[in-house]
Amino acid sequence: MAAFENSAFDNHERVVFCNDKKSGLKAIIAIHSTTLGPAAGGCRLWSYESDDAALTDVLRLSQGMSYKNAMAGLNFGGGKAVIMKTPDFDGSDALYEKFGEFVDQLQGDYVTAEDVGMSVSIMQTIGRSTKYVSGLPPKEGRAGGDPSPKTSWGIFKGIDAAVRFKLGRENVEDLTVAVQGVGHVGYYLSKYLSEAGAKLVVADIDEQRVRRVCDEFGAVASSLDDILFESVDVVAPCALGAILSEHSIPRLRTEIVAGGANNQLAVGADGQRLSDAGILYAPDYVINGGGIINVSSEYYGDLDEEEVMESVAQIGPRLTGIFEEAAATGKPTNVIADTMAQKIIAAA
Ligand code: NAD
Repeated sequence: MAAFENSAFDNHERVVFCNDKKSGLKAIIAIHSTTLGPAAGGCRLWSYESDDAALTDVLRLSQGMSYKNAMAGLNFGGGKAVIMKTPDFDGSDALYEKFGEFVDQLQGDYVTAEDVGMSVSIMQTIGRSTKYVSGLPPKEGRAGGDPSPKTSWGIFKGIDAAVRFKLGRENVEDLTVAVQGVGHVGYYLSKYLSEAGAKLVVADIDEQRVRRVCDEFGAVASSLDDILFESVDVVAPCALGAILSEHSIPRLRTEIVAGGANNQLAVGADGQRLSDAGILYAPDYVINGGGIINVSSEYYGDLDEEEVMESVAQIGPRLTGIFEEAAATGKPTNVIADTMAQKIIAAA
């Protein structure tokens, strides 16, 4: 496994391989940048095909966190962790406590929180061995806890901005949105959309999760193979990354892609492909920044619950600015966002 030669390596400051034979922990922590503050980003639990796949994922995700935190105006650099779900993974407290010890050894250069496969209770377990953890149960009136409802609130505001810009609509009422993945983020997004009068088409590997949004929000179930290619007003990817590629983009039947999954573009050039196809793409790390805004408020204790909701709602106007600049310059939205984020980091 070559780290420096990995195509996702982007001058990361530090990459830590964590191994604990006793608990079976195998994890990688990647610190992309601490220029703007401690490198913050969630911890993902996933079953990877190979160590290389895990390394590529954490390198890509941590770079995305640098850009996400910069665009959200936070005093956080970019970092991320992955815990590898190996065949003998048992999810014991000892494993998560050990992970907390590795986080602690970084002495605050990395702050962890929830990502795919994680929960508030796991964060509490990690928090037994380190204080550099967020996404813990909130204190009375303060921000905190599971960041996903805030992530979804930001995505909802972002979809609203996208339908105004692209479709000239006032809101999402009567529009149809395809949601790929109805876990934490996809569930709350479905809730906000259905409350606003949108129709939903959903898919998830987990059939129970599909049934829940069908029962609660009147969503229609699609298949794992078809969900991205449904004829809908908006496609909202809320599962894993790299789903927008040279193979999938020509098959899309939507005018807008706006969802919460990290690293939706397989490669940067896919932003141009979407633009060429006349599809408005909401850059993932801009639209899904609500959760980390919540994490930051919990970590620094600076905003209360209401202020966090207001701050997250600014994702809508932020995206409109990106859409307008993309339209004015003819550049794809992901390039506009990358340039903005790089300027913020360079100026620090
Ligand atoms: P989650 O684990 O709660 O939900 C992900 C869901 O996607 C699961 O239900 C899983 O079964 C499903 N899924 C996986 N592969 C799929 C596939 N091929 N087709 C359909 N469904 C599939 O995770 P989450 O916290 O909801 O995160 C979802 C995405 O949003 C991830 O990319 C994550 O990095 C990103 N994100 C999450 C947050 C947050 O606050 N949780 C913040 C920013 C970004």
